[in-house]
Amino acid sequence: MTAVTPPGGPGRPGQGGRSAQAAPSAQPGRPQAAVGGWAIARALCVLAPNPSPMTLDGTNTWIVSEPGSDLAVVVDPGPLDEAHLVNVVATAEGFGKRIALTLLTHGHPDHAEGAARFAELTRTPVRALDPALRLGDEGLTAGDTVTTGGLELRVLPTPGHTADSLSFHLPADGAVLTGDTVLGRGTTVVAHPDGRLGDYLDSLRRLQALTVDGGVDTVLPGHGPVLDDARGAVEFYLAHRAHRLAQVETAVEAGLRSAADVVAHVYADVDRSLWPAAELSVRAQMDYLREHGLIELP
Ligand SMILES: [Zn+2]
Repeated sequence: MTAVTPPGGPGRPGQGGRSAQAAPSAQPGRPQAAVGGWAIARALCVLAPNPSPMTLDGTNTWIVSEPGSDLAVVVDPGPLDEAHLVNVVATAEGFGKRIALTLLTHGHPDHAEGAARFAELTRTPVRALDPALRLGDEGLTAGDTVTTGGLELRVLPTPGHTADSLSFHLPADGAVLTGDTVLGRGTTVVAHPDGRLGDYLDSLRRLQALTVDGGVDTVLPGHGPVLDDARGAVEFYLAHRAHRLAQVETAVEAGLRSAADVVAHVYADVDRSLWPAAELSVRAQMDYLREHGLIELP
């Protein structure tokens, strides 16, 4: 699950640029290579056919590979959709690449549900922070660097959307794969109680540092288009979170006590179909405010 801000919601500075949807939806039997292209030198998006208000255009499955290498890493195989998974393999093969490893940004089904089947198709291990999602001997932890076929991907813990959320820093391209921590459009859900706002703000600041002095310009998100202004995108997220937090604090101080009431007040501009997801974020925000002594709630 991901987006809360509707397409007509707050805009973002620097939004636009290259679009992940340049690689259109999976079409059975038709390799993406025939129509897609590399978003950046080392990463190619294959869009899963699972669009929804929560998943935007669908899940971005990323094929990441060093130029000239015949090995590739896949980040987030996506939902359990056989045609999509087969298409990811065919796309890699179309570029002369064999998939050697699968990584997960987090365990939500729109990113991870297809991982076990994908591992069968490719006979590759699956590495993730959550041991329950792993297939094979290796996990992923802070400070790990994945090196496959000359590729370098640095593992960056970015909890908050979920406790197990990771981002992958691709230094050679000045890019970061963010899963649902930063999306190509709208803003993400802090999926209370697993996701926690304090963690999420720390993660955004970690990503911000990468954009300020880590050479990162490009966000390769789990949903929505590629962002060329990574720093602007992360700072928009931080500002948006601060704005929502202030709104929630004001609503509670005005006497609203339940998360549902706060959502109806603060997210009045957001489509009602997204309110259940927004309520998770509001619960995370109310927890944060209570823990910091900013509001008093029973
Ligand atoms: Zn998610």
